[in-house]
Amino acid sequence: MNYRLVIVGPPGAGKGTQAKNVSEDLGITWISSGELFREAIRSGSEIGEMIASYIDNGNLVPDEVTDAMIKNHLEEIDPRHGFLLDGYPRTLSQVDALDSMLEAHNAPLDAVIELKIPDEEIVGRLLSRAQKEGRKDDTEDVIRHRIAVYHEKTEPLLKVYRDRDLLVGIDGLGTIDEVRNRLVDNTRAFLRENGESAE
Ligand code: ADP
Repeated sequence: MNYRLVIVGPPGAGKGTQAKNVSEDLGITWISSGELFREAIRSGSEIGEMIASYIDNGNLVPDEVTDAMIKNHLEEIDPRHGFLLDGYPRTLSQVDALDSMLEAHNAPLDAVIELKIPDEEIVGRLLSRAQKEGRKDDTEDVIRHRIAVYHEKTEPLLKVYRDRDLLVGIDGLGTIDEVRNRLVDNTRAFLRENGESAE
């Protein structure tokens, strides 16, 4: 099945890890906005430097830059073949932009997965990741800012997708494998119940 999915969750919810695993389990392409940005930064381009100035401070990269990057990428893979978008959309304006992109390809979303985890859990997880990976956007102040940005800019998306009957809530607490299985099982069940518009 060529499912077209989005995964949303606060920083530190384990979204990246799970998105990678789940896209493998479902046989669809994983598209991570954060990874695409980190690639652009590593390339050392001017646009990469600009992107880094936002990310390192825990701010969102401007919508126009983000939308253009995702649009290019979706065109490369052909969205009708299925994908799991991880980290995009993250603002209401990005929801509109994604709608237009997918409409142009006649490839509507099948589900939006919300990976849920309490705020208290987030800071601890991100601080321990900071020690392991040394990401510049993982200092405590920046982490707290990223959580605030999530509540302010990204959470409103959930209502939009809930109103469209696309939202699947998943408890993000547990081991990586427990969450992976829960996520795949519940998402598959949701897709079965809600008719499979994907080809
Ligand atoms: P996390 O899941 O830990 O927040 P990501 O790898 O998804 O990490 O994203 C890292 C950073 O990249 C974000 O904090 C943000 O600055 C930027 N970013 C990622 N996706 C988007 C997006 N859709 N819009 C704007 N900025 C984004």
